[in-house]
Amino acid sequence: AKQNGHGHFQFYVASIDQEIRDRKQLEKDLTQALGNHQFHLVYQPQINLETKRVIGAEALIRWEHPTRGLVPPDYFIPVAEANGTIVEIGQWVLEQACWQAARWAAEGTQLRIAVNLSAVQLRQPTIVHDILNTLKRHNIHAGHLELEVTETSFMTNLSDAVEKLHLLNQAGISIAVDDFGTGYSSLTYLKQMPVQHLKIDKQFIRDLLVNEEDTRIANTIIDLGKSLNLSVVAEGVETAEQEYYLSQRGCKLAQGYYFSRPLPSREFETFVKGFHQN
Ligand code: C2E
Ligand code: CA
Ligand code: CA
Ligand code: CA
Repeated sequence: AKQNGHGHFQFYVASIDQEIRDRKQLEKDLTQALGNHQFHLVYQPQINLETKRVIGAEALIRWEHPTRGLVPPDYFIPVAEANGTIVEIGQWVLEQACWQAARWAAEGTQLRIAVNLSAVQLRQPTIVHDILNTLKRHNIHAGHLELEVTETSFMTNLSDAVEKLHLLNQAGISIAVDDFGTGYSSLTYLKQMPVQHLKIDKQFIRDLLVNEEDTRIANTIIDLGKSLNLSVVAEGVETAEQEYYLSQRGCKLAQGYYFSRPLPSREFETFVKGFHQN
Protein backbone atom coordinates (compact mmCIF):
# COMPACT_ATOMS: atom_id res chain seq x y z
CA ALA A 1 0.00 0.00 0.00
CA LYS A 2 2.85 2.29 0.88
CA GLN A 3 4.54 1.67 -2.44
CA ASN A 4 1.35 2.42 -4.28
CA GLY A 5 0.89 5.48 -2.15
CA HIS A 6 4.37 6.65 -3.01
CA GLY A 7 3.80 6.17 -6.73
CA HIS A 8 0.54 8.02 -6.46
CA PHE A 9 2.21 10.85 -4.56
CA GLN A 10 4.86 11.27 -7.26
CA PHE A 11 2.21 11.33 -9.97
CA TYR A 12 0.29 13.95 -8.02
CA VAL A 13 3.33 16.21 -7.61
CA ALA A 14 4.17 15.88 -11.29
CA SER A 15 0.67 16.95 -12.31
CA ILE A 16 0.64 19.94 -9.96
CA ASP A 17 4.05 20.88 -11.27
CA GLN A 18 2.72 20.70 -14.81
CA GLU A 19 -0.24 22.83 -13.84
CA ILE A 20 2.00 25.48 -12.29
CA ARG A 21 4.20 25.55 -15.40
CA ASP A 22 1.11 25.80 -17.58
CA ARG A 23 -0.18 28.73 -15.62
CA LYS A 24 3.21 30.46 -15.62
CA GLN A 25 3.32 30.07 -19.39
CA LEU A 26 -0.25 31.38 -19.71
CA GLU A 27 0.66 34.39 -17.57
CA LYS A 28 3.67 35.08 -19.75
CA ASP A 29 1.61 34.73 -22.94
CA LEU A 30 -1.00 37.03 -21.43
CA THR A 31 1.49 39.85 -20.95
CA GLN A 32 2.43 39.60 -24.64
CA ALA A 33 -1.08 39.10 -26.00
CA LEU A 34 -1.93 42.81 -26.18
CA GLY A 35 1.23 43.76 -28.03
CA ASN A 36 0.76 40.82 -30.39
CA HIS A 37 -2.82 41.89 -31.22
CA GLN A 38 -4.33 38.61 -30.08
CA PHE A 39 -7.42 40.15 -28.47
CA HIS A 40 -10.62 41.22 -30.15
CA LEU A 41 -14.11 42.11 -28.98
CA VAL A 42 -17.42 40.51 -29.85
CA TYR A 43 -20.78 42.16 -29.23
CA GLN A 44 -23.90 40.51 -27.87
CA PRO A 45 -27.16 42.36 -28.57
CA GLN A 46 -29.28 43.51 -25.65
CA ILE A 47 -32.98 43.51 -26.47
CA ASN A 48 -35.78 45.61 -25.05
CA LEU A 49 -38.54 43.01 -24.63
CA GLU A 50 -41.33 45.60 -24.79
CA THR A 51 -40.30 47.38 -27.97
CA LYS A 52 -38.46 44.38 -29.47
CA ARG A 53 -35.56 46.63 -30.31
CA VAL A 54 -31.83 46.22 -29.94
CA ILE A 55 -30.87 48.85 -27.40
CA GLY A 56 -27.19 48.06 -27.30
CA ALA A 57 -24.53 45.45 -26.87
CA GLU A 58 -22.32 43.90 -24.26
CA ALA A 59 -18.70 43.89 -25.36
CA LEU A 60 -16.95 40.60 -24.57
CA ILE A 61 -13.25 39.95 -24.99
CA ARG A 62 -11.83 37.08 -27.05
CA TRP A 63 -8.23 35.86 -26.95
CA GLU A 64 -6.95 34.06 -30.01
CA HIS A 65 -3.87 32.29 -28.69
CA PRO A 66 -1.34 31.26 -31.40
CA THR A 67 -1.18 27.62 -30.27
CA ARG A 68 -4.02 27.10 -27.79
CA GLY A 69 -6.67 28.63 -30.03
CA LEU A 70 -9.52 30.56 -28.45
CA VAL A 71 -8.93 30.81 -24.69
CA PRO A 72 -12.21 31.43 -22.80
CA PRO A 73 -12.33 34.67 -20.76
CA ASP A 74 -13.64 32.74 -17.75
CA TYR A 75 -10.21 31.07 -17.80
CA PHE A 76 -7.81 33.94 -18.47
CA ILE A 77 -9.56 36.94 -16.85
CA PRO A 78 -8.97 35.55 -13.33
CA VAL A 79 -5.29 35.05 -14.24
CA ALA A 80 -5.10 38.61 -15.57
CA GLU A 81 -6.75 39.87 -12.39
CA ALA A 82 -4.28 37.98 -10.22
CA ASN A 83 -1.18 39.32 -11.97
CA GLY A 84 -2.53 42.80 -12.67
CA THR A 85 -2.48 42.63 -16.48
CA ILE A 86 -6.27 43.15 -16.36
CA VAL A 87 -5.60 46.87 -15.86
CA GLU A 88 -3.96 47.18 -19.27
CA ILE A 89 -6.29 44.68 -20.93
CA GLY A 90 -9.34 46.41 -19.44
CA GLN A 91 -8.17 49.78 -20.73
CA TRP A 92 -7.73 48.25 -24.19
CA VAL A 93 -11.29 46.85 -24.02
CA LEU A 94 -12.60 50.29 -23.10
CA GLU A 95 -10.69 51.98 -25.95
CA GLN A 96 -11.91 49.42 -28.44
CA ALA A 97 -15.52 49.60 -27.24
CA CYS A 98 -15.52 53.41 -27.32
CA TRP A 99 -13.99 53.43 -30.78
CA GLN A 100 -16.78 51.09 -31.90
CA ALA A 101 -19.50 53.16 -30.21
CA ALA A 102 -18.17 56.29 -31.94
CA ARG A 103 -18.30 54.55 -35.32
CA TRP A 104 -21.85 53.38 -34.76
CA ALA A 105 -22.89 56.86 -33.61
CA ALA A 106 -21.32 58.37 -36.74
CA GLU A 107 -23.33 55.93 -38.86
CA GLY A 108 -26.50 57.04 -37.10
CA THR A 109 -26.95 53.92 -34.99
CA GLN A 110 -27.53 54.97 -31.41
CA LEU A 111 -26.39 52.00 -29.36
CA ARG A 112 -25.23 51.71 -25.79
CA ILE A 113 -22.15 49.61 -25.22
CA ALA A 114 -21.78 47.73 -21.96
CA VAL A 115 -18.23 47.02 -20.85
CA ASN A 116 -17.23 44.65 -18.05
CA LEU A 117 -15.17 46.44 -15.41
CA SER A 118 -13.10 44.19 -13.17
CA ALA A 119 -12.97 44.85 -9.43
CA VAL A 120 -9.19 45.17 -9.86
CA GLN A 121 -9.70 47.97 -12.41
CA LEU A 122 -12.14 49.78 -10.14
CA ARG A 123 -9.54 49.75 -7.37
CA GLN A 124 -7.06 51.71 -9.51
CA PRO A 125 -6.76 55.29 -8.19
CA THR A 126 -6.85 56.76 -11.72
CA ILE A 127 -9.76 54.68 -13.03
CA VAL A 128 -12.41 57.43 -13.02
CA HIS A 129 -10.11 59.80 -14.85
CA ASP A 130 -9.05 57.05 -17.28
CA ILE A 131 -12.64 56.19 -18.19
CA LEU A 132 -13.82 59.80 -18.56
CA ASN A 133 -10.71 60.62 -20.56
CA THR A 134 -11.34 57.69 -22.91
CA LEU A 135 -14.94 58.83 -23.47
CA LYS A 136 -13.75 62.33 -24.23
CA ARG A 137 -11.03 61.27 -26.64
CA HIS A 138 -13.50 59.21 -28.64
CA ASN A 139 -16.13 61.91 -28.34
CA ILE A 140 -18.69 59.50 -26.93
CA HIS A 141 -21.86 60.58 -25.22
CA ALA A 142 -21.59 59.22 -21.65
CA GLY A 143 -25.11 57.82 -21.99
CA HIS A 144 -23.77 55.44 -24.62
CA LEU A 145 -21.50 53.69 -22.12
CA GLU A 146 -22.54 51.28 -19.44
CA LEU A 147 -20.18 49.63 -16.98
CA GLU A 148 -20.90 46.16 -15.64
CA VAL A 149 -19.47 45.57 -12.19
CA THR A 150 -19.84 42.52 -9.96
CA GLU A 151 -20.62 42.50 -6.29
CA THR A 152 -16.97 41.65 -5.56
CA SER A 153 -16.18 45.25 -6.53
CA PHE A 154 -17.98 46.47 -3.40
CA MET A 155 -16.29 44.09 -1.01
CA THR A 156 -12.74 45.32 -0.45
CA ASN A 157 -13.46 48.99 -0.03
CA LEU A 158 -17.12 49.89 -0.17
CA SER A 159 -16.77 53.66 0.26
CA ASP A 160 -14.05 53.84 -2.40
CA ALA A 161 -16.23 51.92 -4.86
CA VAL A 162 -19.29 54.05 -4.03
CA GLU A 163 -17.35 57.26 -4.53
CA LYS A 164 -15.91 56.22 -7.89
CA LEU A 165 -19.18 54.86 -9.24
CA HIS A 166 -20.89 58.08 -8.14
CA LEU A 167 -18.43 60.16 -10.13
CA LEU A 168 -18.87 57.98 -13.22
CA ASN A 169 -22.62 58.07 -12.75
CA GLN A 170 -22.69 61.84 -12.39
CA ALA A 171 -20.85 62.07 -15.67
CA GLY A 172 -23.75 60.18 -17.27
CA ILE A 173 -22.39 56.63 -17.42
CA SER A 174 -24.84 53.96 -16.28
CA ILE A 175 -23.84 51.13 -13.99
CA ALA A 176 -25.11 47.55 -13.99
CA VAL A 177 -24.58 44.96 -11.28
CA ASP A 178 -23.42 41.85 -13.16
CA ASP A 179 -24.05 38.25 -12.08
CA PHE A 180 -26.55 39.57 -9.56
CA GLY A 181 -27.49 37.00 -6.94
CA THR A 182 -24.36 34.87 -7.30
CA GLY A 183 -22.02 36.90 -5.14
CA TYR A 184 -22.21 38.65 -1.85
CA SER A 185 -25.57 40.27 -2.52
CA SER A 186 -26.61 42.69 0.10
CA LEU A 187 -29.49 45.11 0.10
CA THR A 188 -27.35 47.57 2.03
CA TYR A 189 -24.85 47.68 -0.83
CA LEU A 190 -27.60 48.09 -3.33
CA LYS A 191 -29.07 51.03 -1.44
CA GLN A 192 -25.74 52.85 -1.34
CA MET A 193 -24.66 52.02 -4.86
CA PRO A 194 -25.34 54.38 -7.71
CA VAL A 195 -26.57 51.59 -9.99
CA GLN A 196 -29.32 51.57 -12.62
CA HIS A 197 -29.43 47.96 -13.77
CA LEU A 198 -29.40 44.50 -12.26
CA LYS A 199 -28.31 41.60 -14.43
CA ILE A 200 -29.86 38.26 -13.51
CA ASP A 201 -27.09 35.72 -13.90
CA LYS A 202 -27.54 33.09 -16.58
CA GLN A 203 -27.35 30.31 -13.99
CA PHE A 204 -30.85 31.32 -12.82
CA ILE A 205 -32.21 31.63 -16.36
CA ARG A 206 -30.93 28.29 -17.67
CA ASP A 207 -33.56 26.23 -15.83
CA LEU A 208 -36.18 28.93 -15.61
CA LEU A 209 -39.66 27.34 -15.73
CA VAL A 210 -38.06 23.93 -15.09
CA ASN A 211 -36.53 24.50 -11.68
CA GLU A 212 -38.92 26.10 -9.24
CA GLU A 213 -36.17 27.68 -7.12
CA ASP A 214 -34.54 29.34 -10.11
CA THR A 215 -37.92 30.69 -11.18
CA ARG A 216 -38.47 32.12 -7.71
CA ILE A 217 -35.01 33.67 -7.62
CA ALA A 218 -35.55 35.31 -11.02
CA ASN A 219 -38.97 36.58 -9.84
CA THR A 220 -37.41 37.98 -6.68
CA ILE A 221 -34.73 39.87 -8.62
CA ILE A 222 -37.34 41.28 -11.02
CA ASP A 223 -39.50 42.43 -8.07
CA LEU A 224 -36.47 43.87 -6.29
CA GLY A 225 -35.64 45.83 -9.44
CA LYS A 226 -39.18 47.18 -9.59
CA SER A 227 -39.25 48.28 -5.97
CA LEU A 228 -35.82 49.91 -6.14
CA ASN A 229 -36.55 51.40 -9.55
CA LEU A 230 -33.73 49.55 -11.28
CA SER A 231 -34.18 47.98 -14.68
CA VAL A 232 -33.51 44.28 -14.82
CA VAL A 233 -31.57 42.55 -17.58
CA ALA A 234 -31.86 38.78 -17.97
CA GLU A 235 -28.71 37.16 -19.30
CA GLY A 236 -28.47 33.74 -20.96
CA VAL A 237 -31.96 33.69 -22.49
CA GLU A 238 -31.97 30.69 -24.82
CA THR A 239 -35.62 29.85 -25.52
CA ALA A 240 -38.86 31.50 -26.62
CA GLU A 241 -40.50 30.23 -23.40
CA GLN A 242 -37.91 32.00 -21.26
CA GLU A 243 -38.30 35.20 -23.26
CA TYR A 244 -42.10 35.06 -23.00
CA TYR A 245 -42.05 34.37 -19.27
CA LEU A 246 -39.56 37.16 -18.53
CA SER A 247 -41.39 39.75 -20.59
CA GLN A 248 -44.75 38.82 -18.99
CA ARG A 249 -43.13 38.98 -15.55
CA GLY A 250 -41.95 42.54 -16.23
CA CYS A 251 -38.28 42.04 -17.02
CA LYS A 252 -37.56 44.73 -19.60
CA LEU A 253 -34.22 43.76 -21.07
CA ALA A 254 -32.63 40.52 -22.15
CA GLN A 255 -29.67 39.02 -23.92
CA GLY A 256 -28.86 35.45 -24.85
CA TYR A 257 -28.39 32.91 -27.60
CA TYR A 258 -32.15 32.98 -28.29
CA PHE A 259 -31.60 36.40 -29.85
CA SER A 260 -27.96 36.11 -30.82
CA ARG A 261 -24.56 34.85 -29.78
CA PRO A 262 -21.88 37.50 -29.24
CA LEU A 263 -20.87 38.64 -32.75
CA PRO A 264 -17.97 40.39 -34.49
CA SER A 265 -18.88 44.06 -35.14
CA ARG A 266 -19.85 43.61 -38.82
CA GLU A 267 -22.15 40.70 -38.10
CA PHE A 268 -23.59 42.61 -35.17
CA GLU A 269 -24.48 45.51 -37.49
CA THR A 270 -26.21 43.11 -39.87
CA PHE A 271 -28.10 41.57 -36.96
CA VAL A 272 -29.35 44.97 -35.79
CA LYS A 273 -30.63 45.88 -39.26
CA GLY A 274 -32.47 42.57 -39.66
CA PHE A 275 -33.89 42.60 -36.16
CA HIS A 276 -35.40 46.06 -36.51
CA GLN A 277 -37.29 45.00 -39.63
CA ASN A 278 -39.10 42.19 -37.81
P1 C2E B 1 -20.44 37.72 -18.06
O1 C2E B 1 -20.07 39.16 -17.98
O2 C2E B 1 -21.46 37.24 -17.10
O3 C2E B 1 -20.90 37.51 -19.56
C1 C2E B 1 -21.92 36.64 -19.98
C2 C2E B 1 -21.37 35.36 -20.56
O4 C2E B 1 -22.47 34.53 -20.94
C3 C2E B 1 -20.54 35.53 -21.82
O5 C2E B 1 -19.53 34.53 -21.79
C4 C2E B 1 -21.55 35.25 -22.93
O6 C2E B 1 -20.94 34.84 -24.15
C5 C2E B 1 -22.32 34.13 -22.30
N1 C2E B 1 -23.67 33.99 -22.85
C6 C2E B 1 -24.43 34.93 -23.44
N2 C2E B 1 -25.65 34.44 -23.79
C7 C2E B 1 -25.66 33.16 -23.40
C8 C2E B 1 -26.66 32.11 -23.46
O7 C2E B 1 -27.77 32.28 -23.95
N3 C2E B 1 -26.31 30.90 -22.93
C9 C2E B 1 -25.08 30.69 -22.36
N4 C2E B 1 -24.84 29.47 -21.87
N5 C2E B 1 -24.12 31.65 -22.29
C10 C2E B 1 -24.42 32.86 -22.79
P2 C2E B 1 -18.02 34.86 -22.21
O8 C2E B 1 -18.01 35.82 -23.35
O9 C2E B 1 -17.32 33.56 -22.35
O10 C2E B 1 -17.46 35.63 -20.95
C11 C2E B 1 -17.35 34.99 -19.72
C12 C2E B 1 -17.02 35.98 -18.62
O11 C2E B 1 -15.72 36.54 -18.81
C13 C2E B 1 -17.96 37.16 -18.57
O12 C2E B 1 -19.15 36.80 -17.89
C14 C2E B 1 -17.11 38.16 -17.79
O13 C2E B 1 -17.16 37.90 -16.41
C15 C2E B 1 -15.73 37.85 -18.31
N6 C2E B 1 -15.38 38.81 -19.39
C16 C2E B 1 -15.62 38.75 -20.72
N7 C2E B 1 -15.13 39.84 -21.36
C17 C2E B 1 -14.57 40.62 -20.40
C18 C2E B 1 -13.90 41.90 -20.42
O14 C2E B 1 -13.73 42.57 -21.45
N8 C2E B 1 -13.45 42.37 -19.20
C19 C2E B 1 -13.65 41.67 -18.04
N9 C2E B 1 -13.19 42.23 -16.88
N10 C2E B 1 -14.28 40.49 -17.99
C20 C2E B 1 -14.74 39.98 -19.16
CA1 CA C 1 -21.11 41.05 -18.05
CA1 CA D 1 -23.09 36.38 -15.74
CA1 CA E 1 -19.04 37.24 -14.76
